[in-house]
Amino acid sequence: MAVASTSLASQLSGPKSISSYSGLRRSCSKLDHTQSLSLFQHLHSQLRLSSSSRKASRGIVAMAGTGKFFVGGNWKCNGTKDSISKLVSDLNSAKLEADVDVVVAPPFLYIDKVKNSLTDRIEISGQNSWVGKGGAFTGEISVEQLKDIGATWVILDTQKGGMSLEKMISFIGKKAAYALNEGLGVIACIGEKLEEREAGKTFDICFQQLKAFADAVHSWDDIVIAYEPVWAIGTGKVASPEQAQEVHVAVRDWLKKNVSPEVASKTRIIYGGSVNGGNSAELAKKEDIDGFLVGGASLKGPEFATIINSVTAKKVAA
Ligand code: PEP
Repeated sequence: MAVASTSLASQLSGPKSISSYSGLRRSCSKLDHTQSLSLFQHLHSQLRLSSSSRKASRGIVAMAGTGKFFVGGNWKCNGTKDSISKLVSDLNSAKLEADVDVVVAPPFLYIDKVKNSLTDRIEISGQNSWVGKGGAFTGEISVEQLKDIGATWVILDTQKGGMSLEKMISFIGKKAAYALNEGLGVIACIGEKLEEREAGKTFDICFQQLKAFADAVHSWDDIVIAYEPVWAIGTGKVASPEQAQEVHVAVRDWLKKNVSPEVASKTRIIYGGSVNGGNSAELAKKEDIDGFLVGGASLKGPEFATIINSVTAKKVAA
């Protein structure tokens, strides 16, 4: 409760807290009616979700949502047979906190090998999937193939492939809907470029990307949203916990207003962008950060385990 109370106190400072959203929205000195309503709804949901029933059931208080902590490792185009064997062996021997969903996304070529050697404690994800049933699509991987090989998730990235926002919007939602209908979970990546952040467009961009998913999917049961600011991916420039939190809370508010309060509460919103073993605990303390999508640091077993175990930063001593 201590963490939530501190945050509430800072948000209750009103105009100061709004102007501290610098770089995301153009600054404003006064709250208008819509902002007041939004802030009130957010504070109400924070109070409700930080209630004693949540504390009693899981001992985790620094969480605005109700979903289980989720950590994904995206191995991208990294690894060889040898390095992947070592990584799998390190993960198999790592001690992982129980109350975390853990997923790794090996390169497609190695999924079978990883599936056959990695502990079942960790699920497997594809790094992308085709928009429909497989066929004559050179270089693509179908949802059916991912399922056949034992994957249960797929990462779908709105920034992938250098598409225009318009093209991406019609395509990514269809991909997500197809994967979900076929029974895969979807890690839906959203995030702004540096120039968009600097132009004060972070929320607009993230909301457009969210809408692309929301317009196409019928159920949010198996979707995890990954907020991955493009400027922080693979650059070593991690968003500060405050920068990440202010986008995560805005994403949750968007879900609440545009989908439903239930979906806003249960959907995991995870952060990705230069997360490592040294910064994950501070990020995890933020109420609306429900886990991480990790690139580079997921290639080192012990460090990835540290990131997974940063769920403990969300807990307070009984
Ligand atoms: C990613 O691959 O999704 C990612 C965020 O990469 P990194 O952690 O290396 O920045």
